[in-house]
Amino acid sequence: METGKTSGPSATLQTLPGDDVRQILWRYADRCDLAMLVQAARAAARGPVARLVAEGGRNTHEWTRQKAQLLRVFDESGITAAFLEPEHGGFIEGPKNLALALIAFELSWVDAGAATCSLAGNLALAPIHERGTPEQRACYMSRCAPAKPGEERQPWRGAFALTEPLPYVGVETGMLGGKVRVAEWEEGKEPILQVDKRGRFITNMGFANFVTAAVDSADPRIKGSCMVIVEDTDPGVYDRGVPTRKLVHQLSSTRDPVLSLRVPASRIIGGYSVKDGVIIPRYSHGEIIEAVFRRTRVTVGLMTAAKLLSAVEPVIRYARSRFRGGESGGPGSPRYDLGLQQKEDVVHRLTDVWAMGEASASLGFAAARLFDQLDPLERRKDQILAERKIEGGRAQFKALAKVQAEALELVGLAAKPEGQRDAQRNQALKDDPLTQFALLDSVASVLCPACKLWNTGQGANTMREAVSLMGGYGVTEDCPGFLGHKWMDAQLEATYEGPEAVQRRQLSVTMTNELFLAQFQQWIAELRQVAAHHPGTGAGTLATAMQLWFWTLNHLRRATDADGAKLYHGNRQGVTFPLADALCWLLAARCLLLDVLELQAKGPANPALAEALPGLLDFYTDLCHVQCARAAGEVGRICAELVFGYNRQPAWTPEASGAGSGKGDSDGLEGLIPGMGSAASAGAEAAEGGKALPAKAGPWVQFGGLEPFVRLRVKLDGCLTGARLAKDRAAEALTKVMIPEALDYPV
Ligand SMILES: Cc1cc2nc3c(=O)[nH]c(=O)nc-3n(C[C@H](O)[C@H](O)[C@H](O)COP(=O)(O)OP(=O)(O)OC[C@H]3O[C@@H](n4cnc5c(N)ncnc54)[C@H](O)[C@@H]3O)c2cc1C
Repeated sequence: METGKTSGPSATLQTLPGDDVRQILWRYADRCDLAMLVQAARAAARGPVARLVAEGGRNTHEWTRQKAQLLRVFDESGITAAFLEPEHGGFIEGPKNLALALIAFELSWVDAGAATCSLAGNLALAPIHERGTPEQRACYMSRCAPAKPGEERQPWRGAFALTEPLPYVGVETGMLGGKVRVAEWEEGKEPILQVDKRGRFITNMGFANFVTAAVDSADPRIKGSCMVIVEDTDPGVYDRGVPTRKLVHQLSSTRDPVLSLRVPASRIIGGYSVKDGVIIPRYSHGEIIEAVFRRTRVTVGLMTAAKLLSAVEPVIRYARSRFRGGESGGPGSPRYDLGLQQKEDVVHRLTDVWAMGEASASLGFAAARLFDQLDPLERRKDQILAERKIEGGRAQFKALAKVQAEALELVGLAAKPEGQRDAQRNQALKDDPLTQFALLDSVASVLCPACKLWNTGQGANTMREAVSLMGGYGVTEDCPGFLGHKWMDAQLEATYEGPEAVQRRQLSVTMTNELFLAQFQQWIAELRQVAAHHPGTGAGTLATAMQLWFWTLNHLRRATDADGAKLYHGNRQGVTFPLADALCWLLAARCLLLDVLELQAKGPANPALAEALPGLLDFYTDLCHVQCARAAGEVGRICAELVFGYNRQPAWTPEASGAGSGKGDSDGLEGLIPGMGSAASAGAEAAEGGKALPAKAGPWVQFGGLEPFVRLRVKLDGCLTGARLAKDRAAEALTKVMIPEALDYPV
């Protein structure tokens, strides 16, 4: 039971959360460079970008002069260079995932097409950044750096071409139609390659100077596939193709290019070796895109998060002012002051939009920060393996399996009380970069697809709710905050860089990694502690929902359906995909909870927040509770369908349980829990830190092997105690919070 705040009045949420709050929640309060970058990106978004949208810049899919001017704005504001290393013209030292995530968030607050236009340049460079040779990196990164003061030079722009016309590459990235052949290979000289690639829906193609393209070998003298760089001045055809007649992200350029060019073999990304007269690219196209997408997809997830949070202020303003100027009531009357906010549903739905927005931002930024931690560890891991001369897929696989075992050992040690574990071994494992890498990598491999999948897919659904709160205004070009555009744009974010099916497929593999699952169990234990110390956050509910998900996964991995077929199987997307979806709800709610705890811990140290902090904390606690309850509801529903849905026989017999035996309207569940009928007793117990429910009683036995599931499910429902009270409080806060007179864009 999570009723921690029912007694006594709550502090009031005074204003919408500003940068002081965001910096703490998303952990960049100590990064001046990022704070400045946020300001610069915001000025670009709420100034030139917003004006272009307001002037109707989105009404054409052509690449116009006005749209092209945004590239200059991005160059001047530091957005373009943020991706680059300082030695190539950038200004951020070290990993840049969080920095790029913040830029994407700020630009998408106004228009995600503008964000995509900037990010697609990074995507073009990403294969070179992740797997390019030092020469390739130096060459293309420096060319893409904006000119320094006094320099006469146009920065290069790039495009990333993987997707091809039907029937080739889309979701299935292996079916490459693009080909590479040897065009010339003179003795002792570098081979010249003929590259033929047709692209479909390629961003930045209206102006890109170079393209990083995925191609397959069509020549016995080249092994496998690779990614190759082609330039607009290479000999041959560099046809930008027809513009895509898209309905979304119109501030970016998208075309179907036709490329047929001759390039030196040194353009193969990552380089190549020659063995027995065959060119062997160092990396296949699959290896490169995996390294690229696992980072860039996080930023896409944040685009949709920004949309949801950007909707809060316009929706509040619209609702409050809805009836002003009418005949009945003037200032001071509820109809005038609150307008549509007098209606419970309006504020409840906006609470949901806000909670979803916060949770998706929390998940996205957590993933971005994780990759900032992981990047140096990944390089260190590669270095160590090279030093130990562990090369080739099989040898590396073997070495990493040992590391995985050690990482699992470390999780086991961490779970033990301090006095009971081997402190020396614990420390040695903790200090080992390979162990650290394995731990973080197993989580990153889940968080990235989860954030791309959940933020964009659920975000698109939630954007519809936000639009509906604006009534007819929501689906007009004039809608404040461009909410109608954002709703449609969210669907593209759910599609490009791999649609939802791709993310679900990836999650169905990575979420069964034992190392991830060991940490997941550790998180459940931690949440139990949090529930004990921070009642009202929804931590206990979340812990129980996570337990239910974990039980369901283990059950489905062993179980078969009514016909004896395996349930948890790659081809059985009806099982694996919903379970992946359920996990995302849990991860997002957990990230929000951790952020709220951070605000609680660090907020008091910021004097600028002093007065507002109690109201902020009460509000965020309620919002977190709302989101945990929602996640629990989704997880309970999905898991129950999967656990029971593949059986033909009911899990219990009505006769045995007393139903239909003349004992009245029994549903067969009486006596499940002593005192059933008072759900609070289950909830109260759940809130105490997850003690098991009472031992077998009444018809529990009827559920056979599914009994633990039924117990957990009942417990989970009981955990929802107080969740609606939290929503009532959060909704009330929305009726009182102060908002500025007018939206700060377009200006
Ligand atoms: C505006 C825009 C910009 C883009 N920019 C770029 C770019 O810069 N570079 C680039 O390379 N690409 C780009 N794309 C392409 C984009 O990445 C692809 O559209 C996307 O990956 C999906 O491929 P597809 O459209 O061929 O869908 P398909 O492969 O035809 O899939 C359609 C649907 O079928 C289902 N499906 C397909 N396969 C499976 C499966 N195995 N399991 C379950 N379900 C499945 C899914 O529901 C999926 O959404 C862009 C697209 C757009 C619209």
